This record gives sequence, C-alpha cells and structure tokens, in this order.
Amino acid sequence: MASLKAQGIDSILCTPTATPPRWLTAEHPEWMRVDINDVPFTHGTRQHCCTNNPGFRAESRRITRAMAEAFKDDAAVIGWQTDNELYCHVEECYCESCQVGFREWLALRYDQSIEKLNHAWGTLFWSQQYDDFDQVVIPKKWRQPAPCNPSALLDFRRFLSDSVTALSARTGGDSA
Ligand SMILES: [Zn+2]
Repeated sequence: MASLKAQGIDSILCTPTATPPRWLTAEHPEWMRVDINDVPFTHGTRQHCCTNNPGFRAESRRITRAMAEAFKDDAAVIGWQTDNELYCHVEECYCESCQVGFREWLALRYDQSIEKLNHAWGTLFWSQQYDDFDQVVIPKKWRQPAPCNPSALLDFRRFLSDSVTALSARTGGDSA
C-alpha cells in the first residue's frame, strides 16, 4: 500500500471473512457450510464457511478488529469494504449450527410453544406433528419424495434472512 500511495494510488481494504485462510478451514472442517445433500463445501472458493457457526463468527470478529487496529491511521487507506455479499451464491446451509439455530429461532418465534408451531404449520396433515423443538429438522425441498411443508420452508427462509441480519448487527456492535 505504501508503494501504491507513493504513486498516488489510494487503497480500499476488505476483510477476509468471506475467504478464510486454509489453516483455519483445515483446523475447523465443521465450520464449512453444508449443501442440501449433506455434503460440506470445500476450501478454494469463497463463502464456504457458515456464518451461523459461533467459532467462525468469533474469528471473523477477531480478524476484523485486528485489521481495523492495524490500519486505522494508515493514510493510504481511504475506505473499507465489508463482507457485503452474504449467501449470494448459495442461499441455504444445512450444517449443525444452522440446525441448532433454526430450532432456537423457531422456539422464539412461537413463544417456546411447540403447539403454536404445530398450529401455524398445519402439522396435522401427513402426521407432521412435533412434540418438541428438538424434533424439528430443516426442510429439504429437493430431498423428499413429496413437497415439504410450505410453512416450514417459509420459516427456514425467514431464519436465514434474520441470521444474516443478526450477523451484521452483532459484528458491528459486539465489543468482544
Ligand atoms: Zn450453516
């Protein structure tokens, strides 16, 4: 950046959160996003880690804070590009963190009442009734012999949207 600055070229930095280093993904293969066929993504592209994984979120905060501290007073830096294309290639993730997060999100949405979820989703149909939020699985619209419950699919999309929104809010406001 100093060489560029000497030539009159300013720099815009971006965080590496969409493309974590190989040592990190090798150390934490459980942080990879998982596709609808239960196959984890591999390293060598971008957006292959799940932003709902608590460990990945912590490391993202750590590198973002470290970069901000290191370059906050650098005259060559005229701007920052934050990770702004979350889930633009593949929208869904079916990893364990998302499964757990989806259940927690459902419990909040339905006031900790599985009966409310059963009513809202119309689970009397096809014996879909649940006894507990821990029984709920992420619906997989392409991996079933017949259509999934449309309310479950809609709530999964709402969960994904809310979790991305919460990521931005937590990353910006978290003091950890
Ligand atoms: Zn996930």
